[in-house]
Amino acid sequence: MLEPSTPVQFVKGIGPRLAEVLAAKGLRTVDDLLHYLPFRYEDRLNPRSVAELRAGEMATVIAEVRNSGLFRTRRMPIFQLTVGQGRNRLKCLWFNAVYLQDRFQPGQMLALYGKVEEDRDGGLQIVQPQFEILGDINTNDEGGVETAEKEAEKKAAASLEIGRIVPIYESTGQGKLTPRWFRRIIRWALENLGPDLPDPIPAAVRGHLSLVSAREALWKVHWPDAGESFNDLQSSRTAAHIRLIFDELFFIELGLELKRREQKAQTGIAFQLNDGVRSAIKKILPFHPTTAQKRVLKEIATDMQAPNPMRRLLQGDVGSGKTIVAFQAAIIAIENGYQVALMAPTEILAQQHYFSARQILERAGYRTVLLTGSLEQDRKRDIRSHIAQGHAQLIIGTHALIQDRVEFENLGLVVVDEQHRFGVMQRLKLMKKSEDGRVSVERALLPASERSSADPEPDVLVMTATPIPRTLALTLYGDLDLSVLDELPPGRTPVVTRAVPDERAPEVWDFVGKQVAAGHQAYVVYPVIEENEERELKAAQQMHRQLREKIFPKLHVGLLHGRLDADEKEHVMREFQQGKIEILVATTVIEVGVDVPNATVMVIEHADRFGLAQLHQLRGRIGRGAAKSYCVLMRGAKVSEEGERRLDAMVRSNDGFQIAELDLELRGPGEFFGTKQAGIPNFRVANIIRDRELLEAAKREAAFVISGPNSEISKDEIERALREMRSRWAMSYGLVEVG
Ligand code: ADP
Ligand code: MG
Repeated sequence: MLEPSTPVQFVKGIGPRLAEVLAAKGLRTVDDLLHYLPFRYEDRLNPRSVAELRAGEMATVIAEVRNSGLFRTRRMPIFQLTVGQGRNRLKCLWFNAVYLQDRFQPGQMLALYGKVEEDRDGGLQIVQPQFEILGDINTNDEGGVETAEKEAEKKAAASLEIGRIVPIYESTGQGKLTPRWFRRIIRWALENLGPDLPDPIPAAVRGHLSLVSAREALWKVHWPDAGESFNDLQSSRTAAHIRLIFDELFFIELGLELKRREQKAQTGIAFQLNDGVRSAIKKILPFHPTTAQKRVLKEIATDMQAPNPMRRLLQGDVGSGKTIVAFQAAIIAIENGYQVALMAPTEILAQQHYFSARQILERAGYRTVLLTGSLEQDRKRDIRSHIAQGHAQLIIGTHALIQDRVEFENLGLVVVDEQHRFGVMQRLKLMKKSEDGRVSVERALLPASERSSADPEPDVLVMTATPIPRTLALTLYGDLDLSVLDELPPGRTPVVTRAVPDERAPEVWDFVGKQVAAGHQAYVVYPVIEENEERELKAAQQMHRQLREKIFPKLHVGLLHGRLDADEKEHVMREFQQGKIEILVATTVIEVGVDVPNATVMVIEHADRFGLAQLHQLRGRIGRGAAKSYCVLMRGAKVSEEGERRLDAMVRSNDGFQIAELDLELRGPGEFFGTKQAGIPNFRVANIIRDRELLEAAKREAAFVISGPNSEISKDEIERALREMRSRWAMSYGLVEVG
């Protein structure tokens, strides 16, 4: 009898060698194998007859081999096969397929799948169809002598190939492990699975969603009933699929929910929000806050007043005005006698926050310091002692704030800006244990279970401009509460975006010149891909020279890139901010947060090579004032299809959320968040884009389960669900820990 946890090696037909091949695909246990789902199905119960085929459709056909042959064209050998049913014929072609030469014999039955087209003679053909020779079971492993047992097996296997809806699996192991191999193996595993254990999903939850049992789901996802809707199968929407997808999402959400509650149960700081504090918050405002800003501040203030620590994610598109909200939250903490740390991902952004903080907060009497890695040692030491003694109230910095283990006198609030820019490594660092339990930024971001409990927990506000679709935010940051700034400050006009071929650069420069003549400023950006930093840097320098000397000899053209030292960067930024530099040539260092409302044009070179999220971030640097802004995406002659779609998306939409969704679809969640971002679970069956509704349901049900026993759900059931959750988290999401 097999258990879900049994290694695949104990499945009949899998020896140690194949077990290794499977392990490389992440298939180690029987459970993994059973969750290796067909990526499509073929309807071999009601296959199309050759006579019914129409050009343009994807179809499964079962037909008999008539003849085949290899013919050579000037460019390549082509293998041609003709199959038929009665008088009707269908031609199949494979390019470069010499290996197919001896594969077929007249009279064999074939299942073929592919796109039907008209051929040159008005007949029908399928080019490169997928095929299976029916009733021809050649086992791939441990071949050997034909026995009666093997013969019987062949018959049984053949019955899996025809007269039913047949699962098609992705081949693997360099094609050796074919769909039919998986069919046979998975079927055997299903038949030999030990008795069903109690369902780890509580009955009430199953009831809410009419979920079928896990065992039934596994059977039917591989071997659907004859009456199953073909559409539902192909879109993973059968009852069987839904059960398996829900399983996966539910236990993730259960873990996140638990983590969230644990964090909430910690002792935090209950900040006072009296009239004095209220008026202090209002006093600093240089403008009327938007409705969204007011709402979000209220959510934050409510958290801060509560005796438990705040763990909140603030999402807002570029330019939605997150900074001022963070400053307001900072004032609540400072007015209560606490210190605030504001962490930015780059020095430029930290400097800019410092610049704004001095204008807005220092003017109101709050003592602000900037602590970045590039400061001189002496200066750093001074600032650190200021912080340790509690003189500094708002401390702005890069992740040096974490790396250097800055000590605070009494840290009350941590704001992490542009959290998406902190890479995986930094995130891991944030999670690292602090041995001494001192109050540090690092410690505030530790999972609750790793902190000493002596001091109250500071509040944490994480801000991001990567507008992660809400459902995804729920999985990724499910342990945080979510606030969204879904409104831009008034008076902004959407940025006009155009994709322009490189040849038209002269017109573009002409346009830039006119904007500058009208009193505006411009960016010319060379986005940097990390591997190519050197090259992009050179390109930026060269462009800078050309623009300054040849194209705009009368204007001030500045250059900003990551290799400049901090003083130079600050100097260039200040000159641009003050309008002394009219055109700023820059690498992607300006991607986040830079705020110069008078800049109305951005020219992005090689725009087609860069990710949507990055392009959108860059574009967010303009359109910040009342004047109309223009983003010009320069493109080379050869643009990949995906590059084309990205440019197109940029031209059509200014909405970060829309763009993020598209980006996610184009690239998939893994890529979307960069190199295997920590915290993204690796899903076996769920697809968070396709399954967002199930994700919401899973979240809801997880909260229901965690809220404790009631008439619908027993303590035993809850404990069983939690046990299952822990074992899954331990196995699959090892990084994240749950108590
Ligand atoms: P982001 O959310 O991208 O960090 P910022 O906080 O930098 O955005 O704000 C973008 C610009 O909008 C800044 O120039 C800021 O001063 C301005 N701004 C923010 N809120 C408002 C508002 N309510 N009314 C007018 N301007 C605002
Ligand atoms: Mg910002």
